[in-house]
Order: sequence, then structure tokens, then C-alpha cells
Amino acid sequence: MGGQEEKYVKEAFDSNWIAPLGPLVNQFEERLAKKVQMAHCAALSSGTAAIHLALIILNVQEGDEVMVQSFTFCGSANPVLYQKAKPIFVDSEAQTWNMDPKVLDEAIADRIKQTGKKPKAVIAVHLYGMPCQIERIQEVCKKHDIPLIEDAAEALGSTYKGKPMGSFGDFSILSFNGNKIITTSGGGALLSNNEDWITKARFLSTQAREDAVHYEHHELGFNYRISNILAGVGLGQLDCLDEWVSLRNANHDFYKSIFKTSAVHVHQVPDENYFSNHWLTCITIDKQQTGFSREELRLALLEENIESRPLWKPMHQQPLYAEATVYGGAVCEKLFETGLCLPSGSNLKVEEKERIQMVLNKFVNR
Ligand SMILES: *Cc1c(COP(=O)(O)O)cnc(C)c1O
Repeated sequence: MGGQEEKYVKEAFDSNWIAPLGPLVNQFEERLAKKVQMAHCAALSSGTAAIHLALIILNVQEGDEVMVQSFTFCGSANPVLYQKAKPIFVDSEAQTWNMDPKVLDEAIADRIKQTGKKPKAVIAVHLYGMPCQIERIQEVCKKHDIPLIEDAAEALGSTYKGKPMGSFGDFSILSFNGNKIITTSGGGALLSNNEDWITKARFLSTQAREDAVHYEHHELGFNYRISNILAGVGLGQLDCLDEWVSLRNANHDFYKSIFKTSAVHVHQVPDENYFSNHWLTCITIDKQQTGFSREELRLALLEENIESRPLWKPMHQQPLYAEATVYGGAVCEKLFETGLCLPSGSNLKVEEKERIQMVLNKFVNR
């Protein structure tokens, strides 16, 4: 927490707006839309809910296909199953670790050839805050006339050519889950320049209640709205976002300075067009060169009570998705095998960094 959250939450209590919806939700949506440079925003209960509503509004139905980046958290892909549709997984490219535009292009062409139908949507992710090759992904989507859902759950504050991630897709989504760069403990948002779509999302997220004095329902809705209290927490968090992006970037510089000379690769932006919030700083380890594996380093850190985690396990390798089709896969499989997320919190203290540095140096140079 940054310190301002209680002020906004107190506003909710003082005005007795404890119900879902209320003035803080409206303010939160306006500020998110401005930050991400999308015209319209619906604040929701989670990022997963936001993707689910995007798929419904894009009319994704049973048996339809949706192209999904395989290298991601399951929240990107599960909503496809909620709709009884089929995720078609796409490998990453080695530069940004996100959806490979060339593989996507070939995969879409192949799906059309095999099924005679176009996939209904593309879900591309900016993993760990790193923008995907968004212009090339947009080109592929445009060429095949397929809507793009930008999963910016980890990339609030990241930009490509100065434009915020979350502003490029037909839809984009954010998450304010506890582990994200800003959090409402749990929450998310759906954004678009299409006002009708966001109006529809608000309607669906409040149980699709029709405009009547009594409770009238013609469509299947969901309880996916954020509460006024949590929107207050979100407003306080937004006040801190820029500062936290700098702190996370400082963490990234810190790790770059440690691994300058070793065979450990710190994941970094391909060129100056990309700006990452560096939500998490990640490394990959070439065991042949370093003599140690990702797992050996993880355990050495854990022994000193320092938590690190493997990178996301690709969706096509998850038992849940054992039946799903995948195009490519070797790039993200290797990332999972060799990669590690290092301690990256906005609140890492100097003493903690010194301790991490000592343990890393000792292990790397042993
Ligand atoms: C966190 C996350 C989500 C889901 O967000 P929730 O708010 O946890 O539902 C989706 N995609 C990615 C890449 C995420 O990191």
C-alpha cells in the first residue's frame, strides 16, 4: 500500500457507499481510461472476468476457436473454456517472450484451412510488463480481420513507442490482483474505444439486470463488478503507480549490474521503442555456460529464505490443456525450463537487496 488508500476508502465509509457501484468506481474507471489511453473502461472483480466478458461480447461460442499466447498465466486462457470454445496456443518469440507474430499468422492461416472458419479472437499478453511485438501482432489481426484482446494484466505503466500497453487492442484488460504492480486485493478492468461494448460489459457484469423497477432479466449475466470500497483502494494505488514503476525499474538495473559479466541473461527490452514497467525482473540460465540450473539457483536462494519462482509454465504443457492444439512451443518450453523470476517488489529494502546480492554473487562465483 502507498498510504493514500485509506483516504479514499474513508470517503466510501463517510458517504455510506459500501454497495458495489458508487462514485469511487466511476472515478477509478475514468482515471484508468486516461492512464491507458482508451476511451472507455469498466472496473470489474478480476482480470479473468474482464477477458470472459470480452469473449462474450465478441460472440465467442461453443466450438469456436481463440488464438492464445501459450506462455502466460491461466487467467488469460481459462475464459475460453468458460465459453466452451477452444484455445489454440501460440508460441512466443525469444526477444519479448510474448506471442510470435509469424507463428500467429501461420497458425491462423492453418486454422482457416483446417476448419473453414476464422478464429474469433486473438489474446496476446505483455508478460512480466514486457510489451509484445504489438505492431506486428496488430498487422496480423488486421490482415485476417480478427479482433485483438490485449492482456495487459502485468503491464500497467509499460509503453511501446510512448503509447501505453492496453491502448492497442480492440479490447484490453488489466488486473489488480494482490501480486500485480497496483492492487485492490482483487480486481480488474476491461477497456475499449468502443462505447457500446463497455456499456454491454457493465450490463453483463451486474447480472444483466434490465432497466426496470423490479428485477428483470433477459440475458445470462454475471456478478463481476468491483465494489466501491475496492475502487477506493485502486484510486490510492494509482497515485503511486509512477513511483512504483521507477522502483521496479531500479530493481531491474540492480539485477543487471549483478549479472553483467556472468552467463546469466537478464530479460530486457529489445530496443528503445519498448518501455517495460519491469513488474518482475526475470533471468534465464544457460546451464552449459554457468554450470548450474535454474532450480539449483532457486534452491540456493530459498536456503537463505529468499523467494524466487520459475517462469510461467506454458498453457500447452498444463494437464488442463493436454488436448489443446499448439503452434510451435519450443521457445516457451525452454523459457520455463531455464527461467527464474527474482524478488522484484516495489518495497524491497536496501538491506534486502544487499543480502540478495551477496547470496547471488556467492552462488554465481562459487
Ligand atoms: C493476473 C493475470 C490475469 C488474471 O487476472 P486476475 O485479476 O488474477 O483474474 C490474466 N493474465 C495475466 C497475464 C495475469 O498475470
